[in-house]
Amino acid sequence: MPELPDVEGFRRVAKQAAHRQVREVRVHDAQVLRGVGSEAFQRTLRRRYLAEPRRHGKWLLIGTAGAANAPASPPVVLLHFGMTGNLQWCPHDAELHDHDRVVFDFAAGELRYRDMRKLTGIHLAREQDEVDDLLAGLGPDAQQIEAAEFGERLTRTRRRLKPALMDQSVIAGLGNICVDEILWRARIHPNRSTADLTDDDLDRLYREMRAMLREAVRVGRVPDGPSWLTGHRDEPDRRCPRCSTALRRTRIGGRSTLWCPTCQPD
Ligand SMILES: [Zn+2]
Repeated sequence: MPELPDVEGFRRVAKQAAHRQVREVRVHDAQVLRGVGSEAFQRTLRRRYLAEPRRHGKWLLIGTAGAANAPASPPVVLLHFGMTGNLQWCPHDAELHDHDRVVFDFAAGELRYRDMRKLTGIHLAREQDEVDDLLAGLGPDAQQIEAAEFGERLTRTRRRLKPALMDQSVIAGLGNICVDEILWRARIHPNRSTADLTDDDLDRLYREMRAMLREAVRVGRVPDGPSWLTGHRDEPDRRCPRCSTALRRTRIGGRSTLWCPTCQPD
């Protein structure tokens, strides 16, 4: 499931379309369009230039402009990738994938929104107010938030730590894989109450979140090398890469959670 690092990867893909003029938009499956019909979507974007893509949490925002290198003005395309979405930059002659739902066509190539399960999709905001409305429920981006605000928002309500970190209205961008990795690096049990975190715990959590995101963003996903918890998720005999204890897996907040009982005591 795409999380902040994956969407950063998609942002780099979308950069290849920046400052290029949309020749046409082909909608192969209108179910991924949210709040806008195919024809209006195609008509609005045809001949506009895409701006540099931006990201907030798991959302990718692509502004548009009427002329090359003009400052972007609405409309803005907002993409969410749900469980299975991604973006591809393809040559014109690349075979269409079964799950290519929307194709933005440029002289230099095609930007394709590919998604198997279609749980979320693509929005079109015609003015800034619509962008603000769509993102109104989100907390600050996990890569941008300052330490003091991180601590304040996380401890505002008493709840279990893992669901709090995954709650997009608290901090935007983290999902199941990122949060397991951060908690393991910070040596904090996923079931701890946010009310019981010490200043030292919060410092460590913040530091490890930043460090983890920095490395993951560079590769466009949470790395699954041997020194990462994620690298051991799907092994039959899962062991902690730090202490070799057998890893535990349970459901917390409805999500499959992996942790080390030695490194992350109750
Ligand atoms: Zn361990």
